[in-house]
Amino acid sequence: MRIGIVPGSFDPVTKGHVDIIERSAPLVDKLVVAVFVNPGKDPWFSMAERVALLREATAHLPNVEVDSFSGLLNDYVQQRGSRLIIRGLRAFSDFEYEFQRALLLKSQEPLIETVFMMTRGEYSYISSSGVKELALFGGNVAAMVPAGVGAALQEKIRERRQRSGANGHT
Ligand code: ADP
Repeated sequence: MRIGIVPGSFDPVTKGHVDIIERSAPLVDKLVVAVFVNPGKDPWFSMAERVALLREATAHLPNVEVDSFSGLLNDYVQQRGSRLIIRGLRAFSDFEYEFQRALLLKSQEPLIETVFMMTRGEYSYISSSGVKELALFGGNVAAMVPAGVGAALQEKIRERRQRSGANGHT
């Protein structure tokens, strides 16, 4: 069975992510979307929330499973019996980071291949961080995120405002 892994922080999942997942799913027998703990990022959504939003956004894809992990990606890929990582590429600016990551991974496990899929033009400007920033300042993100994520973002913003209000910040 050919298993592909789509790793990411998905904080939260966007239509750009869903597009990469939809286009990758038919290329493998099983596609595992793996939410990981990224030590360099301070997430808005908990791991369980990110997994739940992804499950909802990919429910129409029968061979897609959503999982979470912490630790080394190459260990996880091997644990799942896979050799294939699929990553989305938006712009040239993504390239350097992705190139370095793919080579670092390869230095640990030469049998694992990272394959890149180009974004669809209309999603090339969408990022989780951009969507969060836009939502925070009252922008309309409905066209950029799957149904369900918009409401979850509003709820998060309310929670964050309440917390910072309680801390004396406005
Ligand atoms: P990470 O924290 O690993 O950068 P993200 O959750 O931001 O993870 O993204 C996961 C993957 O999806 C990455 O390969 C990223 O380049 C890709 N991606 C993010 N947004 C888009 C988009 N709009 N179109 C295509 N790929 C995207």
